[in-house]
Amino acid sequence: MTRKIDIFDTTLRDGEQSPGASMTREDKVAIARQLVRLKVDVIEAGFPASSPGDFESVRAVAEAVGESAVVCALSRAIDSDIQAAADALSSAKRPRIQTGIGVSSLHLQNKLGISEAECLDRVRASVSFAKKLCSDVQFYAEDAARADREFLARACEAALDAGASVINIPDTTGYSLPEEFGALIAYLFEHVRGIESATVAVHCHNDLGLATALSLAGVAAGATQVECTVNGLGERAGNASLEEVVMGIALHGEDLDAHTDIDTREILRASRMVASTTGIRVQANKAIVGANAFAHSSGIHQDGVLKARETYEIINPETVGAAQSNIVLTARSGHAALSHRLEELGFEFDEETLDTIYQKFLELADRKREVYDEDLESLVGEMGRAAHALYTLRGLQVSTGFPLTPTVTLTLADEAGEEHTVATTGDGPINAAYAAVNKIIQVENELLEFDIQAATRGTDALGEVTVRIAGPEGRVFTGRGTDPDIIVSSVKAYLDALNRLLVSQRV
Ligand SMILES: [Zn+2]
Repeated sequence: MTRKIDIFDTTLRDGEQSPGASMTREDKVAIARQLVRLKVDVIEAGFPASSPGDFESVRAVAEAVGESAVVCALSRAIDSDIQAAADALSSAKRPRIQTGIGVSSLHLQNKLGISEAECLDRVRASVSFAKKLCSDVQFYAEDAARADREFLARACEAALDAGASVINIPDTTGYSLPEEFGALIAYLFEHVRGIESATVAVHCHNDLGLATALSLAGVAAGATQVECTVNGLGERAGNASLEEVVMGIALHGEDLDAHTDIDTREILRASRMVASTTGIRVQANKAIVGANAFAHSSGIHQDGVLKARETYEIINPETVGAAQSNIVLTARSGHAALSHRLEELGFEFDEETLDTIYQKFLELADRKREVYDEDLESLVGEMGRAAHALYTLRGLQVSTGFPLTPTVTLTLADEAGEEHTVATTGDGPINAAYAAVNKIIQVENELLEFDIQAATRGTDALGEVTVRIAGPEGRVFTGRGTDPDIIVSSVKAYLDALNRLLVSQRV
């Protein structure tokens, strides 16, 4: 039997630190449920000391996850951070506190202004304090890849002595080369007293496009936990991508002496869910989950794949959840068929919510005849957004054409249910509709990005709009909207982003 590698998912923490990827508590709970279906070992749910919203999200994720995975909360080596992590995890069935500090001379001198001896004191103090609050403590040595090796080894020893059971070695800046990083992990196995009874984790960033390579080099050198995110989301160029690490281990398990417990058939669904929640799309040529990952366009390749799939394809698309079903629902599909399909897609709803979804489904089926899985996922996403919305769309009338000045009449309902109607003109119908929204919701914002795509096949496909706006302090918010009518989806997406901005101003 090969070594079991723990998959530590940090989509909800490091992934959320991607500019514009902020998620609501409901978003995080929904993604956590999908991470459970993927069978990840550890879910890093957030950084509770960073904001009350993050604190509440960690609490909600811990409750939703239950026994199914370890739920981890991040903290700096500061007592109040560690206490906040413990408090947020109070209802977790399998809690873990991750705490740590910078260990490279760059971090010690420039960021922290402390000596090596002071750093070791803080490692001991913070890990011991965390250990009093939680039996499962993970220590991270920030910027380990650029730190002095001997000092790093001493910091790890200090953490283990103080009670840490997991030692996390990050390449925080994504600077290393794979061989060098593997050698660092091997060095620690030789030079850190007590490391044989600890779990060694790697946490690599993708600044040179090497995050997966670094993580696998770490595994080859002895690490048994990999920290990663769905779609490789994360700070700057992102983290190691879960799907790449998992499939790398799946294909090379013998060589790496490694396996994971991940249910790979849930990978594509997780990828779609994270992309649609954060509005950060996956590039078409992204490994494993990109739209082109299994598309063969050259005639020679197509011919080869038809004769024997393995000729040009190293992964069977079905292994990662692609093309499993061609089930299409229509207006004649009953309540039972819909709820069965939703269940297969991994959604769980109570009867009342199911009834509401069924009504929305019938409206959609009336408008576009054939309803695909992607449509159902969009519909559920749309309902989730509506549930936390402060302003909702009640009416939209647009007249446009050539050579007409586009005119829009828009009605929004506020939180109290009160309706506001305005009429405006603009350069184009979407421009006019957005001006109308701004007349009602008067909050300073700048539209940074507007993107429209078809969610499914055919000319009656849902139009999926993603917008990114900057709020008054420059913080970026992403909004999404789907509807068969692209002007309606454009307004929904803008409203979603504004609602997120408004909610953030309240906490
Ligand atoms: Zn990171």
